[in-house]
This record gives sequence, C-alpha cells and structure tokens, in this order.
Amino acid sequence: MKVTAIRTYGVRVPRRRVFVSALGAHPVSEYGIVLVETDEGIEGIGEISMIWNGGGLFLCETVRQLLAPVVVGLSPFDVVQALKRMDAAVQFSRAANPAKAAVEMALYDIVGKRLNTPVYNLLGGRVRDRILLSISIALGEREQMAREAGGYVERGFKCVKVKVGLDPDADVERVAAVRRAVGPNITVRVDANMGWRSPREAISAIRRMEEYGIHSVEQPLPADHLDGLREVRAAVAVPIMVDESVWGPEDAAQVMAGKAADILNVYVSEAGGLYNAATIFSMTRAGGLTACIGSMPELGVGTAAEVHLATCVAELPHPSDVCGAFYHAGDVIHEELGIEDGFAVPLEGPGLGVTLNRDALNHYRA
Ligand SMILES: [Mg+2]
Repeated sequence: MKVTAIRTYGVRVPRRRVFVSALGAHPVSEYGIVLVETDEGIEGIGEISMIWNGGGLFLCETVRQLLAPVVVGLSPFDVVQALKRMDAAVQFSRAANPAKAAVEMALYDIVGKRLNTPVYNLLGGRVRDRILLSISIALGEREQMAREAGGYVERGFKCVKVKVGLDPDADVERVAAVRRAVGPNITVRVDANMGWRSPREAISAIRRMEEYGIHSVEQPLPADHLDGLREVRAAVAVPIMVDESVWGPEDAAQVMAGKAADILNVYVSEAGGLYNAATIFSMTRAGGLTACIGSMPELGVGTAAEVHLATCVAELPHPSDVCGAFYHAGDVIHEELGIEDGFAVPLEGPGLGVTLNRDALNHYRA
C-alpha cells in the first residue's frame, strides 16, 4: 500500500462559547482537516489543531507544500520514516508540529482501517476502559466562572480547570469562588497560561491558592522561563505543570533536565503526533514525573486521536482534557464522542474510529 495524495481543507468552526484565557479570546477554531489517500482506496483523516501563529489554516499550506511531497509514495505503515522525513522537511519549528501530527494521525487511521483495529492497538493496546476528564473554565468574572464550574459538576464532570493569569489578587478570588461552587470533592486545577509576570508574583498567588485544595498550577510563567519555573516549583507545595513549555520530546527533555515541572501536559498536536506524544509519556515515566493530556481544543478527529493516546499510555494519573469536541458548536465528523459521567470512553471503530461528514466539512470550509 502506498500514499498517493494528501489533501487539506481549512475549516472555521465556532466554539460553544467564546473561550477566554490569559492568551486572549477565542470565538472560533480555525483548523485544518487532512485527507491522506492510498492506492488501495483506504483514506485516512487527520486534523491540524492549532491556535497559535494564525492557527491551523496557515499550516494547511505547510502540509501541501512541505510535508505532502515527502510522504506521498511511502507505505502508511512506515510512520517513523514519515516522521523523520517530515522533520527533515520542516526544521527548527515546533509550530509546524500540529501539521506533522495531522499527517501522522491520518497514517495511523489508514493502518487501523486496513488491519480493522482501533489506533490504540497500534500504540501498545488498551490500558484503561475509561478516561477521567478535565474541563476548562474560561477566564472571566469570578461569579460567572463559579456558575459555569457548578454547571459542569452537575453534568458529571469531576475535574475543572480554572483559567487565571491576569491579576493575581483577582485570580485567587476566582479559585476561591470555583472551590465554593463545586464543593470539596471535585478536583480543581489552575492554569495561568504564562500570565504571571515573575516568580515572585507566581509564588505569592499560588501560596494563597493552596488553601483551596488545588491539584496543580499549570504554566505560571512564560514557556522558556525554565529557571523561573524551577524557582516557583521549589517554593510551593502544589505540583507545577507545564504546557506551553513542552511541545515535542526535545522540550520534554529540557524541562526534565531543568527540573522545571512535576507534571507535563502533552498534546498530540503539539508533540507532532501520537508517536511523539507517547514518547513523552515514556520519558516522564522513566524520569519519575507524570503527564496528562491537554486540549487545543481539538475538533472530533483530533479529539479521537487524543482519546486513543489516553487509552494506551501506561500511566495516566491525572484528569485529562480529551474532550475538545465538546467545546465546539459543530464538528466535521458524524459521530458524537461520548462523555459518560465525566469520563471519555475508548473508541472501538477501526482506525481513529470517526468518519468525515462531507456536508459538515463543506459547511465549515474556510
Ligand atoms: Mg494549558
């Protein structure tokens, strides 16, 4: 079997509500859908999930101009060869990882369809029957955030992630209001999205948040401030998670060497695909750290890839955001990805287990 063509489709899908964080306001996801064709008629689907640098629409061009020429002609089974070729074709740019990830997840989709087995079976097999979810609360006025968190708990979610990172005093009040709203038994995570200005500011905010029983604080400082992150980590009791600091395995190695975090938040998109994302999980396990899975948030295809990763990694001790499709008002797949009582469930169809809705693709076409 050989890859014969790779096509890309830019899409613009509205969010269920405008999502605000310290990174800004996101009313819509501008992503790319990638279709990989083969000489056996099996087609694979991938998704470019990317909010940075103009989003996934720009990376459609990267796929067309730079990645497709080096992957066409390969067997879809040759995933590692495809990754090496794509790395050689686009160097020095972690921002291209979501484009590589889209092509790679489409290859896994083809292999799974050909072998009539779910993608998780291509990556080590099923380790768990359900995946504890984390759902993010957009940054806003604290009572609004508390109401939203309470609503998610009523729907069965057992972990909420509170977006902060503007003014530390108001951020502490946001966390306090959410904790009051959800009660003592819900896991509350905090994500500053690089928003605090110094280790001193971050340490002060986190120490005041600790009394509200928080699971972790994510990315208190900018992505490349590994020394500052280490300083914060040493000064507080709550585990420090990094997200923006870690895209691919090389970033994970630097964070681990710099002792800059306790938990790594891993994405299929940012890691450059399922294989690299699984590699980061192996690295953290070997190094005595832990990891969880974060969300861009993805549409249905990218969410499916994240669910497969969550199904097969050896350890997944933290709630993970593998419900990206849930944040959107529409999608490009036929299936509705199930959320049962705050858990995602493994996808059992062949390949990624989702099918492209061509009418929806045309509707959301950018
Ligand atoms: Mg984050």
